[in-house]
Amino acid sequence: MVNKELYNIGKSRTVIRRLFDYGKEQRKLGHTVYDFSLGNPNVQPPQEVIDAIRELAVGNPEGLHEYTLGPGLESTRQAVADNLNKRFGLSLEGRYVFMTVGASPALRAAFEALKESPDDEIITLAPYFPEYPYFIHNAGVKCVIVPCKDDLTPDFTALKKAIGPHTKAVLVNSPNNPSGVVYDEQTTKELVEILEEKQKELGRPLIMITDEPYRELVYDVPDHCFAADYDNSIICYSFSKSLSLPGERIGYVAVNPKMENADEMYWTLAGAIRMLGYVCAPSLFQRVVEKCLDAKPNMTLYRHNRDTLYKELTRIGFECIKPQGAFYICLKAQDGDSERLSELAKSLGILIIPCDEFGAKGFVRIAYCVKEQTITDSIPAFEKLYELLNK
Ligand code: PLP
Repeated sequence: MVNKELYNIGKSRTVIRRLFDYGKEQRKLGHTVYDFSLGNPNVQPPQEVIDAIRELAVGNPEGLHEYTLGPGLESTRQAVADNLNKRFGLSLEGRYVFMTVGASPALRAAFEALKESPDDEIITLAPYFPEYPYFIHNAGVKCVIVPCKDDLTPDFTALKKAIGPHTKAVLVNSPNNPSGVVYDEQTTKELVEILEEKQKELGRPLIMITDEPYRELVYDVPDHCFAADYDNSIICYSFSKSLSLPGERIGYVAVNPKMENADEMYWTLAGAIRMLGYVCAPSLFQRVVEKCLDAKPNMTLYRHNRDTLYKELTRIGFECIKPQGAFYICLKAQDGDSERLSELAKSLGILIIPCDEFGAKGFVRIAYCVKEQTITDSIPAFEKLYELLNK
């Protein structure tokens, strides 16, 4: 009577959600938990966002709560394009920007838009957001995972081998969840060279889908948009992290106008979004983000959390990958058993996620988008954890 595959997906919860729910229960029971499970910024949106919400709610402009056109308000789409052009030297036009309910539907639509045959493949560079394989598979496309190197940076030798006649796109996420790795200029250049060479060999476009919800969350490197480097690209973006608005569900998908057949791609994305049943992105929040495109996330706090955690965890003896972006740090399980590490941590009230599902085998992820106090208070528990692991 029902689709069993979807039933199973619906019933199963990701390890992230399981730990997050466990944390909530524990807190209700009065137990102390250091919850580093979810990438849910426990940080206020920038003041510009709060002001814009207030101004719009009080001013109540005409049409505030009405449906917008499917792709969004013209002014918002144009503002997004202008902002990207100004910051990254693109030549985007509003008509290539489609406002979405966060990055997830943007990605889902991109996968769907590329599907022509069930043999089509989308390559995902590990480590990756664990929803990708589900979204790709559900779009009727094969998901090919290319493992990363030991330091969680991309393995381009493996990528070159993986690209074949069925490859439609390569999906890139930098700054990366879960590793915090940011592709530097050289890495980006290498990636672009590979894709350009491969599309010549294939004799057709090879699309780069970029998932950039952490674009502005960078520490010692400039923020970057891959569309500046590669013409055949689709940008998927979310304001969930940069403006601390994950529950408001607002983002966009944009087609690089330099793409071959950019119009065709745009309308195919529009068709995919329509068929997925996303009527329009939230009207209020389209207006909010339009006013706040230059607002900055609280990088002082994230930097402080990153530096404290990295310093303290390495002092204790843990091996970590120092993040250059996003708000996650990956810690290595000494014996490679990330499940055991996560379970032991849980017994001490520390909620951290085993990363095998993210393609970062043997690591756990600590989401440090939390209050400074949570980090400071958790350090003795991490010391205890290290002792337990080395008993
Ligand atoms: N992509 C990555 C890498 C993410 O980490 C997330 C959320 O955590 C998403 C996409 C989904 O973002 P959204 O909340 O906008 O759907």
